[in-house]
Amino acid sequence: MFDNLKILWHQGKQYIPDVTTATVPGIFRGRPVISGIKVEEELLAELCPTNAISTGPVRIDLGKCTFCGECAVQFPEKIAFTKDYKLSTNERARLIIKEGEDQPITMNPDLIRSEIHRLFGRSLKLREVCAGGDNSCEWELNASNNVQFDISRFGIDFVASPRHADGIVITGPITANMAEPLERCYQAVPSPKMIILAGTDAISGGIFADSPALNREFILNHTIDLYIPGNPIHPLTFINGVLGLLNRRG
Ligand code: SF4
Repeated sequence: MFDNLKILWHQGKQYIPDVTTATVPGIFRGRPVISGIKVEEELLAELCPTNAISTGPVRIDLGKCTFCGECAVQFPEKIAFTKDYKLSTNERARLIIKEGEDQPITMNPDLIRSEIHRLFGRSLKLREVCAGGDNSCEWELNASNNVQFDISRFGIDFVASPRHADGIVITGPITANMAEPLERCYQAVPSPKMIILAGTDAISGGIFADSPALNREFILNHTIDLYIPGNPIHPLTFINGVLGLLNRRG
């Protein structure tokens, strides 16, 4: 017992008391800021592996960005990544960062269905569907439930069966093989239900966007309730995104 107490004392408090205001240490890349300084915009756009950068003026689509950081390395005077991890929103257009803007990414309250607050505000069960993912976003979703991030404190849990769920969280670019299982899983969730896209691959296909091995009809056929950028997503991005959708973010 004494040894266990020593370990606990050594490790200190691991949990994050307030996940809405926590800061992220290390080299985390969050919301980018694009300065108004003139650069060779075509060169800048060409170096992006996922065509996330467009020009005239320069914009970065966080739904396509892999957060590789190459644009900030090659053009540090033009692009810098902040540590702002609150990247999630329910409107696809809000994921596009424009030159000269340094504003937090917010939700569009007009797009949040009334039943989401009414039915899921205090308790939300989610079923995760890995639709061809590389296990990175899946690991981070697991981490959101560990002792540090502890998403269960908000009454948000992952469940094994879609029949016990209030919505699905999709990771991965949605391969053709996963298109039908994904649709069947979604249909098994009782209504009303929500769809959350977690990670760049799920939002846009990421580096696989043009691959014939994908079938992204699901995205076209259903309304998306929440977009969570990241490659992979950070647990704080995921938790704050879901809290924002439930109107519980600080
Ligand atoms: S960080 Fe994003 S925008 Fe910049 S080069 Fe990488 S993928 Fe493109």
